[in-house]
Amino acid sequence: MIPHQAADRVLAEVSAATDEIVALTGDLIRLPTVNPPGAGYRECARLIGARLGVMGMDVAYVDDVGRPEHSERHPRVNVIGLLEGTQSRPCVHLSGHFDVVPPREDWTEDPFGGLVRDGRIYGRGASDMKSGIAAAVIAVDAIRRAGVSLRGTVEISGTVDEESGGFAGVAYLCEQGHIAADRTDYVIIPEPFGPDRICVGHRGVYWFYVIAHGYAAHGSMPHLGRSAIDDMAELLMAMRAELDPVMAQRLSTMSIVPEASGRPSLNVNAVSGGQAGELQQSPCVADTCRATFDRRFIPEESLEDVRAEIAQIVSALEAKGNGCRFTIEDRMIVHPTRTPEESPLVRALSSAVSAVRGSPPQLVGSPGTYDQKHVARIGGVVHCVAYGPCPLTEAHQPDESCAIEDLVASAQVMALTVLELVG
Ligand SMILES: [Zn+2]
Repeated sequence: MIPHQAADRVLAEVSAATDEIVALTGDLIRLPTVNPPGAGYRECARLIGARLGVMGMDVAYVDDVGRPEHSERHPRVNVIGLLEGTQSRPCVHLSGHFDVVPPREDWTEDPFGGLVRDGRIYGRGASDMKSGIAAAVIAVDAIRRAGVSLRGTVEISGTVDEESGGFAGVAYLCEQGHIAADRTDYVIIPEPFGPDRICVGHRGVYWFYVIAHGYAAHGSMPHLGRSAIDDMAELLMAMRAELDPVMAQRLSTMSIVPEASGRPSLNVNAVSGGQAGELQQSPCVADTCRATFDRRFIPEESLEDVRAEIAQIVSALEAKGNGCRFTIEDRMIVHPTRTPEESPLVRALSSAVSAVRGSPPQLVGSPGTYDQKHVARIGGVVHCVAYGPCPLTEAHQPDESCAIEDLVASAQVMALTVLELVG
């Protein structure tokens, strides 16, 4: 339990730092760390590192020299700050990615301006998730300013490439032992779920190709060939007809938001076949067609079963005897993750949310994946959640923004949580 006085002092320090949280969020937004290609990472890592240094943290920069994404033009640079108390454990690590998706043309505000208006800050990353990084930094600094000394360790990292899978970011930090079960007890990822929600895991991903194999012929005599595009069309219909009703029967107990994502889903990301994209067309029957499928699965489904269902639909179509032929190739697999129900991290965060917001949080699951997969699978740290300002729906949207009130509230919650776990 945290002594009341210490908690009150820390909360007051966060509120007093409101302008600083907004300013830091704005400074981060004004660095266009757009991914792809992964621009401005070194500058952004330095900006965060300098801020962490000011608050007395030991700062280390981690360049991913061995990875293919790392180049001289677009270096992959992560930053970690460490503040050790009287002992090294327990250790709580707050980790936010500072890469952002490119803004499209539908913005009415400057995506890299960091404009503040009517209690909100605008810009790419205002929600996902430069605001979360700023809130985490100020949360930890508020503890120092309140004069509370730490028992354990607190770390903050700013990482790259989450939007493209996080392999050069959090995955790399886990591989290199910076986030690992033998030194890290708890990880909070300030992704935008809003100050009243704690995200305790995400669905899995099975990305795969199906390739239809046809037979080329002159387009004026299609009966002499076999159109791979026609076969793919039939397969797409079969997938919907067979899978949709089955998936509609399954509902995760993880309270995934939005509600419709509580069930598994299937999206066709791309279809290409024949002479797609070529300026000059010749009359040919398409001999191949490839579709990219994105099947999201809930923790209650196993990857083996998900795979078998797909293979079954494909082979049933082949078995009809009309000569169609397909092959399936895996492209990417991410297993679902779920924080243990009795996690001390969830307990500490929940009581902090209750204290700051006046009512307990909603525990939710995420429809898409985020860095928790790497923390849990590579780092082996199971006590990991996402908690950060702004509703998820703002992420990747035009005129992305975050309410300043949210920023402060989530920083207060993070500060109380760190205090409870390592204070
Ligand atoms: Zn994010």
